[in-house]
Amino acid sequence: MTFICVSIFVDAPLDVPHAIARAADSVEQGARMIEWRLDALAEHPEGLPAILELLEKSPAPCIATIRAEDEGGTWDGDEQTRISILEAMGVSDHPPAYFDLELSAWQRSANLRQKVRLAVDHVAQVRDISARLVLSSHDFGGRPANLLSRVADMVETEPCAVGKIVFTARSIRDNLEMFDLLTERQKPMIALCMGEYGEMSRILAPKFGGFLTFAASETGGATAPGQLTVRQLRERFRFDQIGPSTRVYGVVGHPVTHSLGPLVHNRGFDAVGMDAVYIPLPVAPGWESFKASLLQLIEQPGLDFGGCSVTLPHKEHLFRFVQEAGGVVDDASRRIGAANTLVVLEDGSLTCANTDAEAAVRALALGMEKSPAELSGARVAVFGAGGVARAMTCGLLEVGAKVVIFNRTKSRAEAIRNDFEADGDISVGGEFDAAAASKFDAIINGTSVGMIGGDAADQSILPRSVRLDDSVTVMDTVYTPRMTPLLIKAQSDGARIIDGSAMFIAQAEAQFGIWTGMTAPQGLFESVISQ
Ligand code: NAP
Repeated sequence: MTFICVSIFVDAPLDVPHAIARAADSVEQGARMIEWRLDALAEHPEGLPAILELLEKSPAPCIATIRAEDEGGTWDGDEQTRISILEAMGVSDHPPAYFDLELSAWQRSANLRQKVRLAVDHVAQVRDISARLVLSSHDFGGRPANLLSRVADMVETEPCAVGKIVFTARSIRDNLEMFDLLTERQKPMIALCMGEYGEMSRILAPKFGGFLTFAASETGGATAPGQLTVRQLRERFRFDQIGPSTRVYGVVGHPVTHSLGPLVHNRGFDAVGMDAVYIPLPVAPGWESFKASLLQLIEQPGLDFGGCSVTLPHKEHLFRFVQEAGGVVDDASRRIGAANTLVVLEDGSLTCANTDAEAAVRALALGMEKSPAELSGARVAVFGAGGVARAMTCGLLEVGAKVVIFNRTKSRAEAIRNDFEADGDISVGGEFDAAAASKFDAIINGTSVGMIGGDAADQSILPRSVRLDDSVTVMDTVYTPRMTPLLIKAQSDGARIIDGSAMFIAQAEAQFGIWTGMTAPQGLFESVISQ
């Protein structure tokens, strides 16, 4: 079992009752271990009795840590004092399950090693238990050059019961090295990456037999960059169900922090009883980082990587990647020149698909209370000339709709027209004014205008002068927020509206079907997103 451990910093004796209440909340949420961070309390004149009270009232087995300044803590006292406090904890009536000490401190002086050994022996004599030592190593700047020798030192140090390696990941590939360390461990190990790229190591620790993963309590906030809360781990990522045979899926893109993919796909896996997990897989922009990351995910022993959703800015990279690997590319991906779904089959062969095109058409048809085939002849204005606009254009032309592309950069709109003009009725629009609005049955926003976090979050693709009425349907592909400035205006004018969640759900349901061979439970994804 991999413990979920919550770290709680306690600065002064007055904070003890609150800290104990927070620990109890964390246990209630599902934490199975508490790390008491005593860096500041250990320096307080009344610190020791407060520390002993924490140990006595700890609602779960605990790790006692007095972290030194040079490894991210605040303790700057002398080592003799630190060791005597550790020893006092060890011989108390409620000793901690583990003491944490930095490997660097252990290695710094023979004198300190001797004192720690004496303290450990003393605890063993007085309490008739062995005080278990965690030797730890932290690097906030990145992967330490001597990572492997640090691990070897932990393994070879006899009083070390658990080795702990933590560093800030530079890409998701760093997590894979941590998984190798866990797989080859010769004693219990904690191997976690911090930061945006490290989330994977925190979620998948149980798959590789990690001793614990750290999480934040709902009330306390994260104590290290990239930490999830206990609830997120257990409810969003089904941490308690993850084991060695769990198949791994995820969303590759940049950024992916706000992706709704983990919410819907993990609930879907749960509903159909599939041993799988779906996680964020941030990959920096650029073909080289995409290719290197995908190759390593696919080849990583024991990862059981089953595939991924691919989003901005990598959809074209996925298409190229699968083509170059000699994999199977579906018809929609080939026509659009981009894909959003990767499947890695058991024998390692690859296929990719583009579920955006069909999803856009399904969402529009559903919102207009028609079948996709009934969109034949419909006049549709598509705003944008990026990946989503291309996918929508491809899907709409396939069902016989007449498409006019509007885009800020006209040459990009013309490029789409040139690529698709053999497939149906497509043209490039000029200025979209009040007169233009009446010429369309549907207007679709395929740009990022209106998206939270984008550079035009409070704007709409339609000029203020344009008035709409109930003869037109307005669809947005932006889904954060669900009600964009465009949709608010369209609704107040009396137009029919379709928010971006409709297309998101349709493409996610299609991906789920491709990976599992099963239909996503009716209405599940919609209800998850609406919560
Ligand atoms: P993309 O390839 O980067 O294309 C972005 C498009 O937006 C370009 O046409 C760009 O115009 C235009 N644009 C950006 N900022 C603009 C501004 N301030 N004013 C006018 N036009 C602007 O992106 P994409 O992959 O097509 O995605 C577009 C949007 O679709 C995303 O923001 C996302 O919200 C949404 N999306 C939705 C789903 C879903 O399932 N609902 C799935 C994927 C994406 P230029 O050509 O002039 O640069």
